[in-house]
Amino acid sequence: MDTHLLIVVPCYNEEAVLPETNHRLSALIQRLEKEERIAEGHILYVDDGSRDRTWALVESFASEGFPVRGLKLAHNVGHQHALWAGLEYAASHADIAISIDADLQDDVEVIPQMVDYYHQGIDIVYGVRKERRTDTFFKKHTALAFYRLMKEMGGEIVYNHADFRLMSRRTLQALMQYPERNLFLRGMVCSLGFPSAMVYYDRQKRMAGESKYPFKKMLSFAIDGITSFSVRPLRYIVLIGLLMIFITLVAIIYGIISYAKGDTIPGWTSLLVSTWFIGGVVITSVGIIGEYVGKIYTEVKRRPLYLVEQVLEEKDTEM
Ligand code: UDP
Ligand code: MG
Repeated sequence: MDTHLLIVVPCYNEEAVLPETNHRLSALIQRLEKEERIAEGHILYVDDGSRDRTWALVESFASEGFPVRGLKLAHNVGHQHALWAGLEYAASHADIAISIDADLQDDVEVIPQMVDYYHQGIDIVYGVRKERRTDTFFKKHTALAFYRLMKEMGGEIVYNHADFRLMSRRTLQALMQYPERNLFLRGMVCSLGFPSAMVYYDRQKRMAGESKYPFKKMLSFAIDGITSFSVRPLRYIVLIGLLMIFITLVAIIYGIISYAKGDTIPGWTSLLVSTWFIGGVVITSVGIIGEYVGKIYTEVKRRPLYLVEQVLEEKDTEM
């Protein structure tokens, strides 16, 4: 077995956690090599334009003989893009890539299990959080609401899975065919298909340092997730417009009855009806424009039309 593993770790100002992270991941790689689950393993640190000693630490790990490689990005591009940089490297340098956050909130102890799945022919292994005991009440519930909304909007994602996952080389190469610039990796990976499995773990508290995802960033990440995956919000506009027009019918009936009873001021009925009607027509029109914008949006993304998982052909017969 000559499997080469790359553990991809995006890092932004992570000097506080990196030595411990490096220690644990190196030990894990050593163990995996010894148990012959992999032939060789490396940690790939992607320094996302840190302003602290992160890159200096990465360099020192490498010179101390740890199985470490590094990608230093020229400026801060955010977690998703930094991760993409690492995965793109992995697609051409490794057989399997495992992505994990630098703070090791995700349990490295399930990594051997992920690798075992790979050897059983599974291409994508999702790390899934069992429960969110360590999260604040607020974070837990906003996250839950997000998963629900995402599902409602037709986005495919694995419940309670962030970006801790194993991907095989062929799925990495498939992912690299997605040329879009708005990345929501956990959704994109799900939409790839390929045989997949899940491993479960408890998420820990951050070892040290501060979260790089304050509420504002989380919110914009959630909005990004929905809008970069679905045109359904646009479609709903048409429905609202049609609903308004339907209400117009009710208003007409109500208006006529009131008029017949004689308890209306002159002009009230026509005003009532036309207000609803104009509202309905305007919103429906906006929705129709939205339909076209949605089409343009999906065209512009230029996603691959299909991904081949396997080709079955008769063996080449030698001449
Ligand atoms: N990160 C990054 N670039 C950024 C922000 C964060 O590469 O602009 C990395 C960070 O170093 C960490 C991961 O993304 O490895 C997740 O960040 P964090 O742990 O702060 O997020 P949380 O777990 O609080 O959601
Ligand atoms: Mg974290």
